[in-house]
Amino acid sequence: MLLWPGLRSAHSMSEIRTKAEKVPELKQAWITSVEPIIQLLRHRTERMTLKDVPFQTHDAAPEEVVQALERQVQADIDPNISCAHYLQKDLSSKAEYQRFLKEHCIERHYVFQIRKCDKPECCRLKRGPDVPRRPDPVLSNDNKHFKQFDKVLGQDTTDSDRPSAKNTNVTAVAEQLQGVKNSVLTGQNVRKTVTCIECTKPRCVSAQKALNFRESRTLTRQLEKYDYTCGALIAPEGDVLHGKVFVRLQLSCSSPIELAYYATTMNVRKDVCSFCAAENAQKDPALVLKYRVVLPLCQACNTAGKETLKRNPIKT
Ligand SMILES: [Zn+2]
Ligand SMILES: [Zn+2]
Ligand SMILES: [Zn+2]
Repeated sequence: MLLWPGLRSAHSMSEIRTKAEKVPELKQAWITSVEPIIQLLRHRTERMTLKDVPFQTHDAAPEEVVQALERQVQADIDPNISCAHYLQKDLSSKAEYQRFLKEHCIERHYVFQIRKCDKPECCRLKRGPDVPRRPDPVLSNDNKHFKQFDKVLGQDTTDSDRPSAKNTNVTAVAEQLQGVKNSVLTGQNVRKTVTCIECTKPRCVSAQKALNFRESRTLTRQLEKYDYTCGALIAPEGDVLHGKVFVRLQLSCSSPIELAYYATTMNVRKDVCSFCAAENAQKDPALVLKYRVVLPLCQACNTAGKETLKRNPIKT
């Protein structure tokens, strides 16, 4: 890979992007230098088949097309969306965009559908008969096979039968991979936090024994060196900290901030919204009287219909 002066100090993709704004040639040089890797991955992927059908790869959309789409979204959906700011925390407060999602989109773990609504003042009249929404896979009564596609077509389904939602097994697999039971990932075992570069939520880094100076320094260096995203391992097999420090694997960017984060005695900001990490979030005072654990919720998430996370009702 091509070495660009000054890139050594950029530790993440977002820092490289920031740098590219100041160094005009950097972007093209970066694209040129990753091109052989893209070709290699393409070639490898296209050699794979599923049921004898080869995989296809596609070119990434060119910048003009991306920009045209961004302009269209601003014009037709929400003029308050600012270009290139598409993190959950940027979008949760955009009311028009949230309304569009609610009225026109079906969000699932693996599939995203956009559909016309029935309001003539909003969507142009449908020209043909309505294409039914794409159903989710639903298990048949034997719990081993999925129902035939045409049996579930046109029905109101949820994606709770998708294999990755089957918590019993997934938890076991996740616990094995992360090297520790989820029950160990409590507030008192939190030693550090790491911020996801995608959703910017803090996630807990736990260890059963307090880290010594050396381990703590190694961990700090690792966290500085690598980008963390929700659901990733921070100390995989072969790493010096493997078996010593853990992050919860069963996390995605849509998972709220863990209870352990709010329970740790470490010096971290506790007034962050449990759903989007916005600061200055409040605990619902009425719920605080009824529950021992009440997590903060920001105004935007509240408006978007999120419900305060709470635990341990106070018995009277
Ligand atoms: Zn509509
Ligand atoms: Zn995340
Ligand atoms: Zn929030």
